[in-house]
Amino acid sequence: MNIENIGQPFLKKFPGDFSNNPTQRNTPKVLFATIKPAGFDHPQLIAFNETLSEEIGLGKFEEKDLNFLVGSQLPDNIQSYATAYAGHQFGNWAGQLGDGRAILAGEITNATGKKTEIQWKGAGATPYSRRADGRAVLRSSVREYLMSEAMYHLSVPTTRALSLAFTGEDVIRDIMYNGNPRYEKGAVVIRTAESFLRFGHFELMFAQGEHKLLQDLLDFTIENYFPEIVSSDHQKYKDFFENVCIRTADLMVEWFRVGFVHGVMNTDNMSILGLTIDYGPYSMMDEYNLNFTPNTTDLPGRRYAFGKQGQISHWNLWKLANALQPIINDEKFLESTLNNFGVYFWEAHDKMLCKKFGFDGLRKEDEDFLTNWQGIMQELELDHTLFFNQLEKITPDTDLKEYFSPAAYTVLNEEKLRKLEDFIDQYQSRLQSNTISREESLELMKTTNPKFILRNYLLYQCIEEISNGKTEMLTKLTQALENPYQELFPEFSVKRPSNYDDTAGCSTLSCSS
Ligand code: AMP
Ligand code: MG
Repeated sequence: MNIENIGQPFLKKFPGDFSNNPTQRNTPKVLFATIKPAGFDHPQLIAFNETLSEEIGLGKFEEKDLNFLVGSQLPDNIQSYATAYAGHQFGNWAGQLGDGRAILAGEITNATGKKTEIQWKGAGATPYSRRADGRAVLRSSVREYLMSEAMYHLSVPTTRALSLAFTGEDVIRDIMYNGNPRYEKGAVVIRTAESFLRFGHFELMFAQGEHKLLQDLLDFTIENYFPEIVSSDHQKYKDFFENVCIRTADLMVEWFRVGFVHGVMNTDNMSILGLTIDYGPYSMMDEYNLNFTPNTTDLPGRRYAFGKQGQISHWNLWKLANALQPIINDEKFLESTLNNFGVYFWEAHDKMLCKKFGFDGLRKEDEDFLTNWQGIMQELELDHTLFFNQLEKITPDTDLKEYFSPAAYTVLNEEKLRKLEDFIDQYQSRLQSNTISREESLELMKTTNPKFILRNYLLYQCIEEISNGKTEMLTKLTQALENPYQELFPEFSVKRPSNYDDTAGCSTLSCSS
């Protein structure tokens, strides 16, 4: 790998703490602290993403690169660092946070000039680790590695994953926070993104009253990551906020399209570029349920439930607006932009649903149809993904009971079946009035509705296998997730087996990672 080409431009642009000191502390007035990964003597490779490595300019992996993958024995050109950010967690101001177990190796530029940041997750403590150890366990690392790539291949904006390796060191975790700590194998993922900047970076500068730094960070972000902004002077900050709103809304629509629930949408987990970031207690949704949250910590309030992700991102954007107000200095503008978010989001959301149904566009009368659909899905406990896959193949004489029962998590009794029949009738007549051909309509459905989603139970099985030294499932899931709009393995196109309904680490996940 071309590790020697990694540089750290961020370090030259902004003030930082260069002490390389992992002691937990506040680092006011700086955006980062240099820090070296802990270093692990016996790393073991689990997976490496060759295509991504070539694409970002890191080239081919050789045996000698293994140390780099866990952050050991780094060459001199790598001055690694962790960034400081803040955030609102579960609705409350949490003060300074920061990369607690993420360490940036720096940035690499590929042959076309594209720049990519490279980051270890789980490679050791930083000044921002608070009381934790900066390590990561195998299960959370596998989940990040596979799911970020699955999202990429689904065409959802996301950070990506380059490698997954055992550190050779055990870490202790109390998975369900119930006083039962146990040792687990430690692992490190290298993840990549154009930038890992979050809403929280801007919130931190605002909270510290560092308005000059806040503006510098805005200038840097606009110049490097927002080519769509062509305005200059003061207008560019307004355009920036509008663009962040649009990117965030578009991302939420994509999450709704594929049925992704993030689980911890705190402002420190919101990418300023509109990427899916920080894969923790997330889940793909099996049975459609607007109240579904995979995160046990979120269960009392269900703040981060599937159906709330639009509203919550709006709330998070409101916090970002607060942080940017000293620079934008126009409350009326921020308020109206935030109001427009709701309008933009819902329209984009409904248009996306219409595509899933194969409609020619969104009509006024479709709104009732879509609301009705949500009710049916929830009441009949239909599998979000399988439902749309089945819909593609439906004909007027399909036996609905036989056809949809394998996609339902409850028995389709007479009453439920009648509701489904009425709904399918409405659907058929809406299709009849399409101004596009049946072929075009089917094409829309096939490109909008994935055939394969990385369900939690599959991840659970894969993690079990890797823990036992086997990688067949990993290989197979990687193939499936790289081709989500095809059905490579029919055994993955079924609903979640009932024995996984109540499995901890599968149906419910904690933040312990
Ligand atoms: P999360 O809610 O998972 O995004 O984490 C919130 C904060 O806790 C972030 O600043 C993380 O960097 C930090 N954090 C989470 N797990 C660890 C860990 N094992 N070691 C150090 N910091 C952590
Ligand atoms: Mg986080």
